[in-house]
Amino acid sequence: MTQRVRKILHADCDCFYAAVEMRDDPSLREIPIAIGRSREHRGVIATCNYPARTYGIHSAMPTARALRLCPHLTLLPGDFDKYREVSRQIQAIFHELTPLVEPLSLDEAFLDVTDVEGFQGSATWMAQWLKRECLARTGITVSVGVAPSKFLAKIASDWDKPDGLTVIPPERVEGFVESLPVTKLHGVGPATGARLEALEIATCADLRRQPLERLLEEFGKFGHRLYELARGIDERPVKVERERKSVSVESTFDRDLPDLETARAALAPLCERLEERLARHGHPPLTGIFVKVRFDDFNLTTLESRGLATDLASYRSLLEQAWARAHRPVRLLGVGVRLLPEGARQQLSLPI
Ligand SMILES: [Mg+2]
Repeated sequence: MTQRVRKILHADCDCFYAAVEMRDDPSLREIPIAIGRSREHRGVIATCNYPARTYGIHSAMPTARALRLCPHLTLLPGDFDKYREVSRQIQAIFHELTPLVEPLSLDEAFLDVTDVEGFQGSATWMAQWLKRECLARTGITVSVGVAPSKFLAKIASDWDKPDGLTVIPPERVEGFVESLPVTKLHGVGPATGARLEALEIATCADLRRQPLERLLEEFGKFGHRLYELARGIDERPVKVERERKSVSVESTFDRDLPDLETARAALAPLCERLEERLARHGHPPLTGIFVKVRFDDFNLTTLESRGLATDLASYRSLLEQAWARAHRPVRLLGVGVRLLPEGARQQLSLPI
């Protein structure tokens, strides 16, 4: 039995928020600009343009650090209503190609075009059409990766940015994956990356030489995933998303946080990550915030509040109440927001 080869596109707008700003004000094109909340609000950079990147600025970087790297950086607060509108136009173009669209954020999506009959079935031509239409109708350039799986399509879209189109046909998967650094693999973050490096595993070719048992020993269940990815295997389907109800981030700590004081200190970096994730979703309207705490006895408690601001002080106050329920060391901490349902957004225009 032969498995059917899939055709997956990963489309990713080039520095999306900055691109919208430069489209609407060409005087911003040649100077370093970034979209993000101010240093005073402990903000992080959501997006920056390519001139800003030459200073080493990138998304998720604290605004304070970005301004140290480039003091004349033009910092814009961002017009997220506008970005969401451009995103809707771009997602609509994706849907003209196929209903199988999985958005990852405002400016990024996977498309499964395996069964698309137009373009003589050529995924490369579909990708070219997508890029052309997005540019013509919205003025935004999109980089597209084409591959038989999600993780390779995503790597491919990043391969030749900006305005890139990289195709990894099935017969080239083997050779492409071989020389791929393991840090490019889906799910390999800094911690796993460091452990792979300590084991002198730098490329997927190195990874392939490891027996599955060894990887399971070193990385638990994720070892199996590494074994497959190193061979270019990634069967995850493109999932047409139900409506997102919340956005959150969480951390499981290597060592339990012994008391409330250390737990409070762990909140700030979590809030920064949440801020960055909210920016990726275009700061959607919220109905409330929540804190999630797992104690060292594995009991989990979640505390919600309607209408509080997403600032550190509000999360601190929720954490204090949550911690008071058990008075125990903390194993996991999470912070998040509840989103206003899509249907209610059209009627209401809430401040965010
Ligand atoms: Mg992007």
